[in-house]
Amino acid sequence: MNIVCIVCPNGCRLTVRKAARGTVVTGNQCARGAGYGIQEATDPKRVVTAVARTSSSDWPCVPVKTSGPVSRDRIKRVLKAVYGLRIDLPVTRGDMCIKNVEKTGVSVVFTRTLPPVERKREE
Ligand code: SF4
Repeated sequence: MNIVCIVCPNGCRLTVRKAARGTVVTGNQCARGAGYGIQEATDPKRVVTAVARTSSSDWPCVPVKTSGPVSRDRIKRVLKAVYGLRIDLPVTRGDMCIKNVEKTGVSVVFTRTLPPVERKREE
């Protein structure tokens, strides 16, 4: 497979092949690129971003992301967990939303601070 390395701005064009001695990466200018190529060929991972529902009508959703990359074949399960939430405000950017989401070893964290819900005064 041919891919572009995204580890640094050089954007080396990598070729990843299976060989008798394992997965072989060519086109990389450094070891990090080789690691990236092998990762992409064997278990590609991505940081997941999404929005979670809140219980506030003023701020109906809050953006979240995983604290690290997640295997691509588990992304749907992570999103399902996030979309099943109903968050009570306030929340603070960087705080944990779901610990070890779907046993991936990474957490879901808030990427925005939202204020507490204002109680409407009764007239
Ligand atoms: S192979 Fe190395 S130098 Fe090339 S883009 Fe990847 S990290 Fe950068």
